[in-house]
Amino acid sequence: MIIDIPENSDFSIHNIPFGIFSTKERSPRIGVAIGDHILDMAAVAELDVFDFNTALLEKDTLNDFISLGKEITTRVRKKIQYWLKDDDSVLAGKPELFVKQSEAQMHMPVTIGDYTDFYSSLEHATNVGKMFRDPENALLPNWKHIPVGYHGRASSIIVSGQPIYRPKGQTMPNGADTPVFGPTKRLDFELEMGFICGKDTNLGESVSTKDAEDYIFGLVLFNDWSARDIQKWEYVPLGPFLAKNFASSISPWVVTLEALEPFKIESPTQEPEVLPYLQFEGAKNYDIHLEVGITPEQGQETIVSHSNFKYMYWNMCQQLAHHTVNGCNINIGDMMASGTISGKEEDSFGSMLELSWGGTKPIKLKNGNERKFIEDGDKVTLRGYTKNGDIRVGFGEVTTKVLPAK
Ligand code: CA
Repeated sequence: MIIDIPENSDFSIHNIPFGIFSTKERSPRIGVAIGDHILDMAAVAELDVFDFNTALLEKDTLNDFISLGKEITTRVRKKIQYWLKDDDSVLAGKPELFVKQSEAQMHMPVTIGDYTDFYSSLEHATNVGKMFRDPENALLPNWKHIPVGYHGRASSIIVSGQPIYRPKGQTMPNGADTPVFGPTKRLDFELEMGFICGKDTNLGESVSTKDAEDYIFGLVLFNDWSARDIQKWEYVPLGPFLAKNFASSISPWVVTLEALEPFKIESPTQEPEVLPYLQFEGAKNYDIHLEVGITPEQGQETIVSHSNFKYMYWNMCQQLAHHTVNGCNINIGDMMASGTISGKEEDSFGSMLELSWGGTKPIKLKNGNERKFIEDGDKVTLRGYTKNGDIRVGFGEVTTKVLPAK
């Protein structure tokens, strides 16, 4: 191996995720995470080892690289894997090709044109339905027929490390008959994963569930910040608006679909049967362990949720097929998030709304404090990894600090 990879690293030789990094000396450019290091792809390009226009490896976004197509990007990934394993490869004896992750700053990996958020966890939709609507009929009649989603806001998607300000807005306090304005009292995270589209379609075209994987470049962790009190007052009849669009945070390394291939598992049975355009063959879910931690100011982290991407009722191929079935076009860099990923157990819920059951059951933190929702100064961290024997592929983390309202 050209470089030491710590045991249990998310960025093992099996991963090879892509991102955008910079250092004091190096402008933002494409890198590959390996162990605790980053392989500088712009520097590798200077070795004259690639047969495409390598100027795009110096760009501050992955979009042009992704647009080379999977045939090329997969070959690049495999070459890097091969070179890293071979002590006599073109990468040998060139420490200047590597940067320590601790000395690099990560940037948004892609330029996101459009962002869509789904609502594809049965457990989450049921929990929210119980709290916001009717405990007896939590799921709306369309939920098991349509991968429900809405168009979000791409401009406010930020990368791990960038803080957010507590959003302000309009709410209707319990028992009141006129709304009030002020900072949200119910700031929440949503544990999600997002996929990045890797191929364009034209207006009028649709992507089938069979072809959908060709259109997915890779995945990131996705924290879809939410203001529950604003959401409750505004969401009828058109769905989420200002309760959701003030920020969503993503992890900086894009893990390719190819790296996740060995971790596919059977999808849950869908009953009633879905319409033909949503049917699919083979395993389409992924066994990815997920966790959420809250770190209060001057305190240590408490893990408040353990969940898994495998719980998704609707898979990514169905989401993409549904999104495009009406001829809506997609572009490289578009982000599609899963919706909050909750499991069945109370400690596997993917939001404070569910974990504290609408604020009725506070969560105890290690420092003795309690949380019903997220407070100013708190840092929220999402992590994700998958493991199969000795093979580990992880996402690193997305961490975001909440600052007081501006
Ligand atoms: Ca969401």
